[in-house]
Amino acid sequence: TAPLFSKGEKLTNGYFTGDAYLQLLLAKDKNNDFVIGSVTFEAGARTNWHTHPSGQVLIVTEGLGLYQEKGKPAQSIKKGDIINIPENVEHWHGASATSKMVHIAITNYEGEVNAVWLSPVTDLEYSEANK
Ligand code: MN
Repeated sequence: TAPLFSKGEKLTNGYFTGDAYLQLLLAKDKNNDFVIGSVTFEAGARTNWHTHPSGQVLIVTEGLGLYQEKGKPAQSIKKGDIINIPENVEHWHGASATSKMVHIAITNYEGEVNAVWLSPVTDLEYSEANK
């Protein structure tokens, strides 16, 4: 079946490893203090470690991926899963090593900030997460 949303633009901001794409669905405005985007991660692609000052919700719309909070084991995530990420919890999300993953991300703002970007997920961390 056709993807729900277009893949959008390739992310080149340096906060992702591998090939990831963003389609903006809804920008922050006077009523909505969050941004909604559809993020496509090709196999092997993932975010850097990061936090959200007011949390984030992910809705997986396609494929198989991984979600990990610092100090905890990685979780497999799949189409239909909803991940409610608390504020200021260090984490990453992305595709599995062998499958793409697409999620909608609803990311809340605190003032003008919705994410604090940290270091890349190393190949070692990623390969442990895929075990
Ligand atoms: Mn996040």
